[in-house]
Amino acid sequence: MTTAQTVSATAGAPAGATDTATARLMDGTAVARRISEQTAVHAAKITERTGTAPCLATVLVGEDPASVTYVRMKQNRCAKAGITSRHVELPASTTTQELVAAITALSEDPEISGILLQHPVPHHIDERAAFEAIAPGKDVDGVTMHSFAAMGFGLPGFVSCTPGGIMRLLAAYDVDLTGKHAVVVGRSAILGKPAGMLLLEQNATVTYCHSRTRDLSSIVRQADVLVAAVGKAEFIRGEDIKPGAVVLDAGYNEGNVGDVHFESAAARASLITPVPGGVGPMTIAVLLEQTVLAAAAQAGLDLAEL
Ligand code: NAP
Repeated sequence: MTTAQTVSATAGAPAGATDTATARLMDGTAVARRISEQTAVHAAKITERTGTAPCLATVLVGEDPASVTYVRMKQNRCAKAGITSRHVELPASTTTQELVAAITALSEDPEISGILLQHPVPHHIDERAAFEAIAPGKDVDGVTMHSFAAMGFGLPGFVSCTPGGIMRLLAAYDVDLTGKHAVVVGRSAILGKPAGMLLLEQNATVTYCHSRTRDLSSIVRQADVLVAAVGKAEFIRGEDIKPGAVVLDAGYNEGNVGDVHFESAAARASLITPVPGGVGPMTIAVLLEQTVLAAAAQAGLDLAEL
């Protein structure tokens, strides 16, 4: 990463924040664009070699407006990268059995490279059973037990896209994680927990915090690298950021704000992700990249040699 954007942290900074910010922005939009350009090159090569474009199947159960928007956004991004999409829309009344059958059919369909089940699904559905119907080789969203276990063992496989995106951002900004104290606030199976495991794999010393953690501030203050994955607007304040820390804010809350109070944190951090434009765009970039990797593997192609 060569471009250094410095953040102005004075506007709206609460009392106590310094007025000379030095944090550089981790520009997820730019990094995601570069990954997606490479993905498009790979998708075109696969299409040329096999006569078929990589295809992402998106499965949506019900009509939750946010989920409808997310799926549409992913389809648009696929189209831009030369990945076709097949959309399966099921009514909110779909049973677990019906959903599992629909996903199993996609798992067995040779035209489908990857499968994304948009979640959350309606409460009456056994979400885990539905995820597990995704064939491991098509689990481009990294949601199956197979993918999670592969990550835990440090074996090749698809990673959960948001933690995967966080790791790609850290790499793009040359953040050396060896021996660093990484604190992850949040322990969900799709975000906090895998983020910590991936940081550990890169030799960070990892501490997880969650809703039962005692004296959260004192732990956050020790973080050389902080991953915020809580789902509470501006929950982490600048006064708890260790000077020079690298701050990755995965939160996306009402009002377009993250889990970290941006202005006050930017006054102390060395690198920080904005919301929006930080971790968010990386998630879709990793999804598309993994779809193309799946398509290549299914066609017996080695992308490095294309
Ligand atoms: P989640 O499943 O609700 O998990 C939230 C985590 O935060 C839980 O582990 C919870 O602890 C912890 N937590 C809640 N209150 C806390 C408190 N007071 N102190 C410390 N920890 C607390 O949410 P998620 O799916 O991981 O998502 C987290 C955020 O990331 C949300 O804002 C979501 O919108 C965003 N997100 C963004 C992307 C993206 O593409 N950028 C993708 C996924 C999620 P317990 O386990 O103890 O309950």
